[in-house]
Amino acid sequence: MLNSKIIAQMPKVELHCHLDGSLSLACIKDLAKNAGINLELTDEEILKKAQAPENTRNLLEYLARFDFVLPLLQTYKNLELAAYDVVQEAAKDNVKYIEIRFAPSQHLQENLTLEEAVEAVIAGLARAENDFDIRANALVCGLKQEPIEKLSKLPLLFDKITDEHLVGFDMAGDELNYPQEKFATLLGEITMRGVHVTLHAGECPNCEQNVLDAVEMGATRIGHGIMTKNLSQNQQTMMVERRIVLEMAPTSNFQTKAVETVAAYPFKDFYDKGLHVTLNTDNRTVSATTLQKEYEKISKWYPDFGLADFEKINHYAIDGAFIGQAEKENLHKQFSKAYQALSE
Ligand SMILES: [Zn+2]
Repeated sequence: MLNSKIIAQMPKVELHCHLDGSLSLACIKDLAKNAGINLELTDEEILKKAQAPENTRNLLEYLARFDFVLPLLQTYKNLELAAYDVVQEAAKDNVKYIEIRFAPSQHLQENLTLEEAVEAVIAGLARAENDFDIRANALVCGLKQEPIEKLSKLPLLFDKITDEHLVGFDMAGDELNYPQEKFATLLGEITMRGVHVTLHAGECPNCEQNVLDAVEMGATRIGHGIMTKNLSQNQQTMMVERRIVLEMAPTSNFQTKAVETVAAYPFKDFYDKGLHVTLNTDNRTVSATTLQKEYEKISKWYPDFGLADFEKINHYAIDGAFIGQAEKENLHKQFSKAYQALSE
């Protein structure tokens, strides 16, 4: 088992992190002050409202935790600060490249437009890139439970916003009641624009069909994808051959009840089969975690999962990142060198 000190020194890539679920306590308090909202809560009470309890019953109960911070994320200034904060937290985990996702439709209660919400987040990412040794890009999420007429506005964002920090599209939210097949037309609108796609799928029990449908609709990465374990050998081989990246997040995967026991958690099995697994926080605050803690968990559960294995999943993450080939090559080289140094 690797010790915490070595894990802290490993450079990391994080592909799956939600903005609204990852705000630090200090940031939440600042945002409330800016929004003129008196939370009238102690630090402990704030965290209790923002974090999902250990015994969350399912994905929907987990998602309900986001309601607490959303009123604080309705202005350009606060969205900019929030994006900066999450990158700052990731930099503490020695993350060198991160993609942060958010649903712009959740931030329009005080007259921001969809475009302005995206621009605010990008501004925060860019400012953090200047202050920390990290690159940060944004993914726009559609929420599965949103009406389709609202969702249909999202593809246009990729015509309007040309900033290089906007790199891809995701669909998040209620997978239990809104299967992937409902979104084929919307996804067609996205992929015809050449936009990279990752989709939340296979996060709830027996919803493995959503994983296959997501791949079919053009996703090169799957958010969580736990139910890939229920797919046939041939279907899993197809995912290996297509180099589909699975963005796994151990703490979150237990909280949403995608799995219940370490023995049933498929991370190592997927890895051994050659599936391109990666490690992520999903939501730093809602899951009360850091990427460091997620790596420590994996190291504890699978004591044989060593430095070279952690390096390998980071190369998988780089390969799956929504960036150009030259930037990937640079990251591959940087990571190879750093992991080599750690092994000496
Ligand atoms: Zn997620």
